[in-house]
Amino acid sequence: MYDVIVIGAGPTGATAAKALADSGSKVLIVERMKLPRYKSCSGVLIKKSMDLVQQYFGKAVPASAMCTPTDNHGMILTDDNGKAYTFEQGGLNVWRSSFDNWLAENAVGAGAELRDCTSAISCEQSTDYITLRLHSDRTYTEQARYVIDCEGVMSVIKRKALGTSPEFITTFQTFNEGKIDLDLHYFYAYLQPELSEYDAWFNVKDEMLVLGVAVRDTSRIPHYYDNFIRYMKENHGLAITKTMKQERWLMPRIRSGCNIDYGMGRLFFAGEVAGFLNPMGEGISAGIESGHSVALSVIEHFEAPASVLDDYKKRTEMLKVYMQRQWHFVAGMSKTFGEMRAAL
Ligand SMILES: Cc1cc2nc3c(=O)[nH]c(=O)nc-3n(C[C@H](O)[C@H](O)[C@H](O)COP(=O)(O)OP(=O)(O)OC[C@H]3O[C@@H](n4cnc5c(N)ncnc54)[C@H](O)[C@@H]3O)c2cc1C
Repeated sequence: MYDVIVIGAGPTGATAAKALADSGSKVLIVERMKLPRYKSCSGVLIKKSMDLVQQYFGKAVPASAMCTPTDNHGMILTDDNGKAYTFEQGGLNVWRSSFDNWLAENAVGAGAELRDCTSAISCEQSTDYITLRLHSDRTYTEQARYVIDCEGVMSVIKRKALGTSPEFITTFQTFNEGKIDLDLHYFYAYLQPELSEYDAWFNVKDEMLVLGVAVRDTSRIPHYYDNFIRYMKENHGLAITKTMKQERWLMPRIRSGCNIDYGMGRLFFAGEVAGFLNPMGEGISAGIESGHSVALSVIEHFEAPASVLDDYKKRTEMLKVYMQRQWHFVAGMSKTFGEMRAAL
């Protein structure tokens, strides 16, 4: 019997597991991929993420997790009308495979047990514990007093537990050799409706020019991507000599009000699967903060699941307000996010 099983070794799961292991809890992390695993991501750690890592892991992000240019100077956001706004902020540029793996190693260093190549496939709650069905080279079960579900956008366990189907945004990005007349230290987001159904973006990772669009209707990807490439050629001197890689991923679609699914009984959700995600897909800070919060709630109210839930909601109240304000802010810049004006 584990005290807690954490599903998913992303930033949310690793942070929750580290805090629980630090407190002396018997923790198991299950991760469906082989670690270090790939995660499609712009890999921008905003200052808030860096500060949270320092606070909860007691160390700075190591150079081995970074890619060039290592320093991110902030975001340049172009609104509906093509007007650019610069938001200066000292952040970092990381590869998620190395960064997430480093976080997970720290959780293991604190005493958490980690099983990668192991998927959680269902769970069943009893009065005093929860049984998790797992699949690796065989299917078997483990029991714990609590399960913290940090499975990100996939949300297999959450969908089964709540019986709901989440709405997604599909991201499409390419990694290219070439050149562009932009300061490579910034992350660029474009909100013009002719360039995407959500946002389009540009950033750099280890000399590769990354260009992406996000859509609700996947059949529209070629249309928006071509528009975006044309726009970047005309406005920023983009010249692609070779496309090395392209990839699709999903993000949860956050709706007005920023509803959060906290969990029920002995099963709690944290990070992206709970609905913690800031505009332009900034989710690492929200994952780390919510993962840490739910872990502290479990530690403090271990014998009373209902109190864990109440405490978790209280601890993440400010995080939710921060998220609502961020969405409200972008809603003021772009019609695409119009419905989020009512986020507060
Ligand atoms: C294109 C793109 C760009 C982004 N750029 C940024 C950015 O620059 N900065 C930023 O802060 N955020 C960014 N985000 C958002 C960020 O990636 C996520 O919000 C963040 O990864 C959420 O962390 P998490 O730990 O909750 O989930 P994840 O990082 O997705 O981790 C979940 C883990 O759970 C595992 N898992 C899933 N299901 C199961 C299961 N059933 N059993 C076991 N394991 C399971 C997965 O394999 C995964 O390792 C971006 C997202 C996308 C799609």
